[in-house]
Amino acid sequence: MIIYNPTSRKEIRFIARHVRRLVGLDTERYFHVVDFLEQTMPRIIKGFVYDVVEDEDLPGKYAQAIPEENRIEIRQSTYEAAVADDPRARFTIAHEIGHLLLADEVPDSYVAYARRNRKASLRPFEDPEWQANEFAAELLAPCRLVAGMTDKRIKEEFGVSLEVARIQLGKIERGAQ
Ligand SMILES: [Zn+2]
Repeated sequence: MIIYNPTSRKEIRFIARHVRRLVGLDTERYFHVVDFLEQTMPRIIKGFVYDVVEDEDLPGKYAQAIPEENRIEIRQSTYEAAVADDPRARFTIAHEIGHLLLADEVPDSYVAYARRNRKASLRPFEDPEWQANEFAAELLAPCRLVAGMTDKRIKEEFGVSLEVARIQLGKIERGAQ
């Protein structure tokens, strides 16, 4: 398994691009996240499994990553929505994939991160939730590919929500690195 320990947006962007290259989608707009989950994740993470579970078995969550077990659990309804190209469900799955790919080498240290996950004490790039969101946005709608497009076109062609499209455009506008 390739182990990453990202600390910045720049590194997360690099990893997302690496992942796209891995599946030959470096310049494609639409990233097939369910195909990636099913076909590619088992190839790049040893022992990777994902489980589609009944909605009531995952209360309060659409999906969750368990890096210690190389596992992702996804609610049935979220999985089906992602298969049907629903932007939010696609983002959820990309976010959980991010948790696994960005997890630290030592599982304990991921847990330690999560435990310390309090806004007051963590800078954004140390927060695993920030990292996973950043990864998902960069995987589904890379800034380098969406530049110059309208939010509506990004939504249609990249399969992300308008919100994510606007976040990506905002980063470009700010020159965020
Ligand atoms: Zn998360």
